[in-house]
Amino acid sequence: MSPTSNVPTKAPAVVMPNPPIHRVLSGQKALVTGANSGIGRSVALALGKAGADVVVNYVAGDEAAEAVVSEIRSGGAKAYAHKADVSNESQVVAMFQKMIAEFGTIDILVNNAGLQRDAPIEQMTLDQWNTVIGINLTGQFLCAREAVREFKRRGVVEAVSCAAGKIICMSSVHEIIPWAGHVNYAASKGGIMMMMKSIAQEVARFRIRVNSIDPGAIRTPINTKVWSSPEAYEKLMTLVPYNRIGEPEDIGRAAVWLASDAADYVTGTSLVIDGGMTLYPGFATGG
Ligand code: NAD
Repeated sequence: MSPTSNVPTKAPAVVMPNPPIHRVLSGQKALVTGANSGIGRSVALALGKAGADVVVNYVAGDEAAEAVVSEIRSGGAKAYAHKADVSNESQVVAMFQKMIAEFGTIDILVNNAGLQRDAPIEQMTLDQWNTVIGINLTGQFLCAREAVREFKRRGVVEAVSCAAGKIICMSSVHEIIPWAGHVNYAASKGGIMMMMKSIAQEVARFRIRVNSIDPGAIRTPINTKVWSSPEAYEKLMTLVPYNRIGEPEDIGRAAVWLASDAADYVTGTSLVIDGGMTLYPGFATGG
């Protein structure tokens, strides 16, 4: 018997659990960018369930945004939709001004909006490069800057949170794993990692916490082709030791925790949520 023959090569496929979300964010005001689809939608709904009032940012898809707003309101929290392109400075500034006028302040920013424009390097246009960097990275900078300005102006309100503010940057396992054919996307996520850590270092003394979530493969419209057919799903599972795709709710629950005072000592960190994708599964049976 070889030393590794009793090591299972795969976890059994499992159904995602759905534990309840407790109201740990009552009284807090949150802005989630790109919140009318996929991960952003799930994060906005989870923050609402946890008691936060939520601004649902989006750039296209009015109906989908209003549906998220209605679902949050049905749970008792306040919400409204705000259409703005996160890569546009004046639209971002106006979005924060409106939020402060409507909700009084901001406690939680989830920098989630993002997209892919894939091409082999020799065919990638400058427009494809600039679009991805502009939305995925510059968009996160613009929103983080406005949030920090408000967090520092207001400071800690102990009845609301021990921190003066929380920023969660939606990064990706591709801040760690290089990704051929997606150099613009991987560069944007690697950039988010150092942006997040540098802002965290700069603002920790104001009790502002800044962290990232690094999702692996999550079932959303951004990556339909890797999960929509049984063949594609099976191929994807060769990269995922936990043997199921991630669901947007997996990220929503983590965002609630990271934004809550339960994570008060957590800043400058990347929380990888990937079913083991970054564990080098090719080495699971000895390499
Ligand atoms: P998605 O396509 O379902 O959602 C993307 C959201 O971003 C949409 O609401 C879209 O309207 C919004 N958006 C795009 N451009 C915008 C702009 N200029 N201004 C404002 N909003 C804009 O995709 P998703 O999978 O939910 O992706 C959300 C985030 O999660 C992205 O940052 C993505 O890189 C990251 N991510 C996703 C996965 C995954 O497997 N799905 C894995 C790792 C990281």
